[in-house]
Amino acid sequence: MNTMKRMDCRDLNQSELTQHCAELGLPKFRGRQVFQWVQQKAVQNWEELRNIGAGDRQKLQEGLFLQPLRKVKAQISQDGTRKFLFRCADGETLECVLMDYDRRKNRDRHTVCVSTQIGCAVGCAFCATGLGGWRRNLSPGEILGQVLDITYLMRQEDPDFQVTNIVFMGMGEPLLNYEAVLKAIELLNDPEGQGIGMRRMTISTSGVAPKIRQLAKDNPQVGLAVSLHSAHNTTRDQLIPMNRKYPLEELMEACRDYTTLTNRRITFEIALISGQATLEAAQAVGHLLKGQLAHVNLIPVNPVAGTGMARPTAKEVQQFAQSLESMGIPVSVREEKGTDIDAACGQLRRQLECEQK
Ligand code: SAH
Ligand code: SF4
Repeated sequence: MNTMKRMDCRDLNQSELTQHCAELGLPKFRGRQVFQWVQQKAVQNWEELRNIGAGDRQKLQEGLFLQPLRKVKAQISQDGTRKFLFRCADGETLECVLMDYDRRKNRDRHTVCVSTQIGCAVGCAFCATGLGGWRRNLSPGEILGQVLDITYLMRQEDPDFQVTNIVFMGMGEPLLNYEAVLKAIELLNDPEGQGIGMRRMTISTSGVAPKIRQLAKDNPQVGLAVSLHSAHNTTRDQLIPMNRKYPLEELMEACRDYTTLTNRRITFEIALISGQATLEAAQAVGHLLKGQLAHVNLIPVNPVAGTGMARPTAKEVQQFAQSLESMGIPVSVREEKGTDIDAACGQLRRQLECEQK
């Protein structure tokens, strides 16, 4: 009898899968084939592996889990953004968003925003995910599964559909689920899987300083975004409680070390909140980032019920951007995507929880 632990096939890289297939009594070359079916074609069940005989499929079925995420809800925004609520095998729900779809002039770029945890322990004041607390980490297979299952669903209407970019900006703090996120990135990068370039994937963090340094050593290719939001510790303490553990001085030192090691530009995200998006705040950010290889991405806050936070006016956003530009810092304002479908992270799951109460 086989006493091996039954693993999730989506968690395994090619060599692990090859070894696992051998242990299940399949020829070694099957490992590569199974990897391609699972990671490239995003199959939903073992029956779909057409070039593998029924006997071997049976062994796979018995020895490995293949557990696609189940679509609970999908919403399409007027701008083409699609938001998905998926259910994991244990019943937990998670969100992910497909951006840039349906823009005919931009058909070659499809970005998926993926979740890395169910809930989040950081508890930022403006974030729907943070309001509900942390429940559990996602496995590598559940993280990359969001890309696979969106691909599978989209290919039903567009057989050539391919995700090209990934941002780890959904529910959860990626650097507090570090190993699983790095494994998911490795698998998504495999040319025999999704083949997504390292530089087309971006991790966003609320500021886990030691992990920023570790990332520079473990994967200097993947993009990094830091949720800065404010250049003052007092404000940042209120917005991102994590700041009490890793205050701005420590965070910026980690960012400088990151840039020294990788020579990569960091994107600093700033959520603009009504009443706080002042010229003084912009200048403080400018001074803080002086000398740092940086790009600033301004995000007018997406109002979440219960947070009491509203968006500043378009004029305030523009002035904030101009002030940074005048200090020599490259700035972009995040296009508002999917605001009509509650696209801010955690909003859809929260809505479902409220409906079920
Ligand atoms: N936990 C990571 C990544 C997920 S959040 C992080 O905090 O960076 C991704 C981005 O969305 C972060 O910059 C976060 O600050 C921002 N965000 C969260 N809720 C938001 C909201 N309601 N409006 C605007 N931005 C929000
Ligand atoms: Fe967590 Fe990011 Fe939301 Fe903060 S903004 S609570 S770190 S998911």
